[in-house]
Amino acid sequence: DLAPVITIDGPSGAGKGTVCQRLAQHLGWHLLDSGAIYRVLALAALHHEVDLENEGALMALASHLDVQFTPTADGVKVVLEGEVVSEQLRTEQTGNAASKVAAYPAVREALLRRQRAFRNDPGLIADGRDMGTVVFPDAQVKIFLDASAEERANRRCKQLQAKGFDVNFEHLLAEIKERDDRDRNRPVAPLKPADDALVVDSTQMSIDEVVERVLSYAETKL
Ligand code: C5P
Repeated sequence: DLAPVITIDGPSGAGKGTVCQRLAQHLGWHLLDSGAIYRVLALAALHHEVDLENEGALMALASHLDVQFTPTADGVKVVLEGEVVSEQLRTEQTGNAASKVAAYPAVREALLRRQRAFRNDPGLIADGRDMGTVVFPDAQVKIFLDASAEERANRRCKQLQAKGFDVNFEHLLAEIKERDDRDRNRPVAPLKPADDALVVDSTQMSIDEVVERVLSYAETKL
């Protein structure tokens, strides 16, 4: 039998990353950060000077990605072709490039098997945009985690400031909205709640409250 899956989909900045890490830790389950795979692909394209418009070349790159994800105490260490890229992966620039490569159907198809391979006992927490709709349609528990664009830009601002970066709220908000539009309006695997997903709006919730909510809902389904 296939291991159980909890999918957490939603726009960037809704708190999925932290919530998923907490859930995985709490349950002792595996974690799939599918956004990181698209980010790694975008970085690989930069390294190999593959044009972000070249769907065929991106697909070939996606099928042969040499990447390792190693869980650590404070996140995941990502090694691409022998180089540690964990930091570079998190920039807005990489996120934007990721959302461009992720819009190609052939690229998404090429990454399906790699994502499903994360489904192992005792279970998987899957973080992304299409985890409940496309990658794990048979997941036992599906959550769509949302928050207002302003609140998401706010959180991102604080995160970046805490890391010592200079940030401009209006600029961040515009970037977040642009990325959302691209993710929601693409023809393949657009960002939207699965029919059988529980929608959680985290605008007024703390991370702890979201984790509690997901765990109590999961208890009724697992
Ligand atoms: O979640 P994260 O910000 O790391 O994702 C980066 C980009 O990768 C997203 O904006 C989205 O376009 C793409 N993505 C996707 N499907 C996923 C996860 C991420 O299309 N399952």
